[in-house]
Amino acid sequence: MIEVRCGDCGRLLARASFSRIEIKCPRCKTLNSLRAIEPPTQAPASANVEVNHGQANTSMDGR
Ligand SMILES: [Zn+2]
Repeated sequence: MIEVRCGDCGRLLARASFSRIEIKCPRCKTLNSLRAIEPPTQAPASANVEVNHGQANTSMDGR
């Protein structure tokens, strides 16, 4: 998420995840229109995944 701050007075307006946003500052009435420039933070699908192994032997007796 991105912190949206007023370009004029620097007041924190919102924390949001967006591609485009227009938000009006309640303090100085400046209309801020922003575009998100952050790259997506999601890991690619081929990321390392912890695999649980070695639990094939169940200690429960079926009988
Ligand atoms: Zn402002």
